Amino acid sequence: MGRSVKVLFLDRDGTINRDIGTYVTTREQFRLIDRADEAIAMARRAGYGIVIVTNQAGIAKGIVSEEGVEDIHRYLNELLALKGASYDRVYYCPAHPDYPHPEYDRFACCRKPETGMVERAFADYRASGVEVDRERSFFIGDKTADVECAVRAGLRPILVRTGHGEEALCRERGLRPEFVADDLFEAVAGYILSTAS
Ligand SMILES: [Mg+2]
Repeated sequence: MGRSVKVLFLDRDGTINRDIGTYVTTREQFRLIDRADEAIAMARRAGYGIVIVTNQAGIAKGIVSEEGVEDIHRYLNELLALKGASYDRVYYCPAHPDYPHPEYDRFACCRKPETGMVERAFADYRASGVEVDRERSFFIGDKTADVECAVRAGLRPILVRTGHGEEALCRERGLRPEFVADDLFEAVAGYILSTAS
């Protein structure tokens, strides 16, 4: 049997950086949530791979370009490096069902709660000779779409109260995250590393 790895899948907006109520289009608009960088550094030191999966329909809507999104992700890695953290992979979904686009419609299966981005990550790990151990892997996000994506992909869902913090909506829809944390730092330090590893 090949090597396996435990992975922390992370939503971006509202989980790692502040949700500003619209699409983040510039580095100036991208602000980390308190201690999110420390949380990622801690998880990495504990042996977790770090993968970001983010819906960026602002691309299909013409609000932000792919280059713009990719620049934000470079900036995120620069900010994380200051705390000795980094991510391994980042996947973004440019599509939106209400904004048909010849170039992006084929990515509709990627938009969370669909699992396309997570499946891609599984496949990319596999291609590098490593299997993702889903039972030891988590998906942390602020929306029902994140929790639902986690459940469908066989990952352990954690909801954070930052960003949209859709705790009530999760209950309404019968979605049960394994844990609800105040923020990413509490999810990692107060749950994953202290009780769930
Ligand atoms: Mg979010």
